Amino acid sequence: MSSGADESSVRVALRIRPQLAKEKIEGCHICTYVMPGEPQVILGKDKAFTFDHVFDMNTQQGTIYTHCTEKLIEGCFEGYNATIFAYGQTGSGKTYTMGTGFDVNIGDDEHGIIPRAVHHLFRGIEERRQAATEQSRPVPEFKINTQFLELYNEEVLDLFDTTRDLEARRQRSNIKIHEDANGGIYTVGVTTRTVTSAAEMMQCLKLGALSRTTASTQMNVQSSRSHAIFTIHLCQVRVCSPDNNDNLTDNRLANDSEINEFETLTAKFHFVDLAGSERLKRTGATGDRAKEGISINCGLLALGNVISALGDRSKRSSHVPYRDSKLTRLLQDSLGGNSQTIMIACISPSDRDFMETLNTLKYANRARNIKNKVMVNQDRASQQISALRTEIARLQMELMEYKTGKRVLGEDGMEGINDLVHENSMLQTENNNLRVRVKAMQETIDAQRTRLTQLLSEQASQVLAKAGDGNEEIGNMIQNYIKEIEELRAKLLESEAVNENLRKSLSRASARSSLYGGPGSFSALMPPEKEASDVIEMAKKNLEKLKKMEKKKKKRLRRFEENQHHEAELSSVVKEELPDNDQERSNEEAEG
Ligand code: ADP
Ligand code: MG
Repeated sequence: MSSGADESSVRVALRIRPQLAKEKIEGCHICTYVMPGEPQVILGKDKAFTFDHVFDMNTQQGTIYTHCTEKLIEGCFEGYNATIFAYGQTGSGKTYTMGTGFDVNIGDDEHGIIPRAVHHLFRGIEERRQAATEQSRPVPEFKINTQFLELYNEEVLDLFDTTRDLEARRQRSNIKIHEDANGGIYTVGVTTRTVTSAAEMMQCLKLGALSRTTASTQMNVQSSRSHAIFTIHLCQVRVCSPDNNDNLTDNRLANDSEINEFETLTAKFHFVDLAGSERLKRTGATGDRAKEGISINCGLLALGNVISALGDRSKRSSHVPYRDSKLTRLLQDSLGGNSQTIMIACISPSDRDFMETLNTLKYANRARNIKNKVMVNQDRASQQISALRTEIARLQMELMEYKTGKRVLGEDGMEGINDLVHENSMLQTENNNLRVRVKAMQETIDAQRTRLTQLLSEQASQVLAKAGDGNEEIGNMIQNYIKEIEELRAKLLESEAVNENLRKSLSRASARSSLYGGPGSFSALMPPEKEASDVIEMAKKNLEKLKKMEKKKKKRLRRFEENQHHEAELSSVVKEELPDNDQERSNEEAEG
C-alpha cells in the first residue's frame, strides 16, 4: 500500500441469506438469481444489479470474511481506517453476518465478521511481535481500545456502560460527537475499554450485546430498530519499515539506519449493524412505535442522502448532509472520508420480500459511487520522512530521465527513448562544431587583418622612404594608425551586416503580417515592429558614429602626413644650407 492519499470507492457486497424454514414451509419462491461467475444478481425477471461481490445463498461465513474484511484488518496495521456496515431489512441476516449476536450456541464455522476480525487482529499482533523478535528488531508496541455504541431514536447509548437500566443511562447520556482539525470524528463521554487479548475483547462484546438485548426487552422493542456501532482503535509504535522506495537509498542513509526511526500508526475500525431498512407501514406500527419508526428511518434516510450526495458526481461540490442524523455524523469520516469502507447489503431470497429487496438493491447501488480519500494515519515526523523519501525517489527518477532520456512506449509497444533527448544531443554536437568553426574563422580574420596592416604600413613607409624619410618611429606610428583604421573598418562592416540582416527580417515580418492580417496577429511570435525599428535606429547611429570616427582618424592621418610632408620640405631646405656648416667644421678640425 502506498502512503499518501488515494481514492477508493465504497465497495458494496451483496449477501443473499438462505430461505428460512418458515419461508419454505409457507411455500415462498426464490426470486433472486446470481449470474454464475459474475458479481451480478437478477431480481425477478429482469432487474439486474452489479456489485463488487455477490454472495449467493450458501456462502459460508468464512468466505464473506476473506473477501470483505481480511484486507481491511491488514490495512489497519498499516494505518488505514476501515468501516464495514451491514444494511438490509429486518431478518435479512445483518446480525448473523456481522456476528453482533454473540450466540453462545453456534459453532466456529458460523462466527460472523466481528469475532473473526478480533481473532485476526490479535493473531496479527502476535505474528508481528514474533517476527520482530526473530529478526532481533525492536518489538512493536500495540494498544487497543474499543467502544460499543447504540443509536436509538437519535440517542447515543453506551453499551459498555455498566448501568443496565436504560432510563438511568439515558439521563446520564451526555455523549458528544466532535470533529478534529483533520476532519476525523471522535466521541466524548463514551466508555473506552483497553483490551490486551482476543478473549478479553470477546467478553466485552458479549456484555455489550447482552446490555443491548436487555434494554430492548425492557423497552419492549426489537434490537433491530437501533443501529449498533462497535469500534476498535488500534495504536501501533514500530520501527519504520524499509519500504520499496529505499531501493534508491544511498549508503549513507543505509548506515544511519542503525539508529532506529519509530513511527506511530493509528487506525480505527467501525463495525456497524444498521437498523432494519424496512418501511414503517410494513410493521403496521402506530403511536409510540410509529415515532420510533420515523426516528430510525431518519438515520437511514440521512445515510441515503449522504450516500446520494457523495455518489452523484454532478453534486460533488455541494453540501453533504452529515449533520442530519447522529448516525451519519458518527460515520462522517467513514463515508467519503479517511476510510476504506465496505457495505454488505443483506437480502432475503423470498418473493414475499421482493419490494424490500428491490429497495435494498437500489440503495446499495447508490453507495458504489462514493469515493473515499484513504490516508495513512501516521505521526508528523514519520509522515515527513516518508514524504522526503518519496521526493528523493522522484528527483532521482527525474535525474535519470535527464541523463538517459525518458523512456516511452511506442505505438508498436517497443520501449524507446524520448526524441527530445536525441534532438538535444544532436543540437549540442552541432553547436560545438559551429563554435570551433567560428573560433577558426575569427583567428583567420585576425591573421588577415594583421597581414593587411603589415602590407599597408609597408606601403606607407615605402611612400615615406620615396619622399625621402625612413624614420622608424614615424613608420611605427603610421602602422598603429593603420591598424586602428582596419579594426574600425572591420567593426563597421560587421555593423553593416547586422543592419542588413535586421532590415531583411523586418521586411519579411511585415510581409508576413500583411499576409496574416495586420501587425497585431504576429506580434506574439515576432518582436514588435517598434523594437525592430529601434534596433535599426540604434544601428544607424552606431554606424554614423563609426563613420565619423573613421573620418576623424583619416583627417588626423592626412594632417599628420601633411605635417610630415611639410617637415620633409623644411628639412630639405635646411639641408641645402647645411654643406657650408660642414665645411666650416672640417676646416676647424683641420686647423685643430
Ligand atoms: P437481521 O439482523 O438483519 O434482522 P438476522 O441476522 O437476525 O437478521 O437473521 C435472521 C435469521 O436468519 C436468523 O435466525 C439467522 O440465524 C438467519 N440467517 C441469516 N443469515 C443466514 C445465513 N447466511 N445462513 C443461515 N442462517 C441465516
Ligand atoms: Mg439484527
